[in-house]
Amino acid sequence: MGVGEETTAVGPIAFLMVLAAGAALPGAVARAVALRELRRLGSLTSSGAGERLYRTTQVFRFGGGVYLVAGGAAALDYLSGVRWPGTSMPALVGILAVGALIWLGGVLLGIQAGLYPWVKAVRGLEASLGEQLTPAMVFLVVAVVPNLVWNLGLALAETTWRTRVVARPVTLLILASAYVTLLLVLAPRVWPRLVRSRPLGEPEAGAIRALARRAGVRVERVSVIPWSRQRIANAMVVGYGRPHILVTDYLLAQCTPEEVEAVVAHELGHIRLHHVWWRAALAWLWIAVAGAGSALLARLPTTPPVWAAAGGWLVLLVGYFVVGVNAVGRRQELAADRYVVQLGVDPRHLASALERLAVANTLPRRWDKVFRLFQSHPGVEERVRRLVGAYPAPAPAPEDHA
Ligand SMILES: [Zn+2]
Repeated sequence: MGVGEETTAVGPIAFLMVLAAGAALPGAVARAVALRELRRLGSLTSSGAGERLYRTTQVFRFGGGVYLVAGGAAALDYLSGVRWPGTSMPALVGILAVGALIWLGGVLLGIQAGLYPWVKAVRGLEASLGEQLTPAMVFLVVAVVPNLVWNLGLALAETTWRTRVVARPVTLLILASAYVTLLLVLAPRVWPRLVRSRPLGEPEAGAIRALARRAGVRVERVSVIPWSRQRIANAMVVGYGRPHILVTDYLLAQCTPEEVEAVVAHELGHIRLHHVWWRAALAWLWIAVAGAGSALLARLPTTPPVWAAAGGWLVLLVGYFVVGVNAVGRRQELAADRYVVQLGVDPRHLASALERLAVANTLPRRWDKVFRLFQSHPGVEERVRRLVGAYPAPAPAPEDHA
């Protein structure tokens, strides 16, 4: 709120209702888009329909993120000028926590729920709405709730300790760094449980462990995530010292054992080439700097020049991290693809796995120039071309002539 403006009195219930209405808006827009797209579905080829779906989902993801942050900032600015009749400090923090959860959950889950009928039709999903929302809810818990804890913790500390300690940039950065480090240590333990992964059975687990030994990687656990009803075919690696390899059951169902081996070899590449550490460092930088920065911004007087400077800084920061982090990510993907060959795995198995995963996950095979900037992975077409181009197929074995 601006310097010298009057404070306004508002009841907590009225505030939460306004927030809920704002949180429901992106979901309503998503539902309108989904219904319009469902009507024109008959006139599209299946790959055309898949491409439209993917692009629209990405636009909603990005636009929803901007709406989330901008709306949150506007709410904070408004709140700084509000008198809350009949509330003590703990009650106020409680209201803010409920409000933040309504805001974040409403925007993120509302978009997913709005798009659901369209996604279900294009991808032929069996998943119910609840199952479809599960990955987003896990994301909410892992990525968003800690952020909430951080901001509310700061608000509470500042008011109850009556201290300016948390207002100093260096102290804020140290606090934010410590907090992010704690999160990065905890996330690899918590995330596999939240997605209900269970130990992978034999012979698949044994084959993955043998491959990891060949790569010189000590694997802590090999697990499978039950995501076949959501039709998510993917593999990932979490943890630092002794990593945990996870594959989805839908990946196992879609790929041959050789293709699964090639996909896991790519993941082992992310470990051997220290990408896991780079990702943690980038996440650390992003959250610590953005967390400390936004806490600082909230303390500045909200005059137009300050807002313009803050806005410019935020645009730069977001641009750098969205575009820059994705650029680093795409380079790492190509490096991990090259590692597959170093490990002695036939790159043709990875190429065929990538083609199969693009179909299974309803992904477009290529990006145009602008769209590419926002993608964490290069397009399948580019990856396959590099794999095939860099490693010409070996001469056919004699029995192939038979
Ligand atoms: Zn990768």
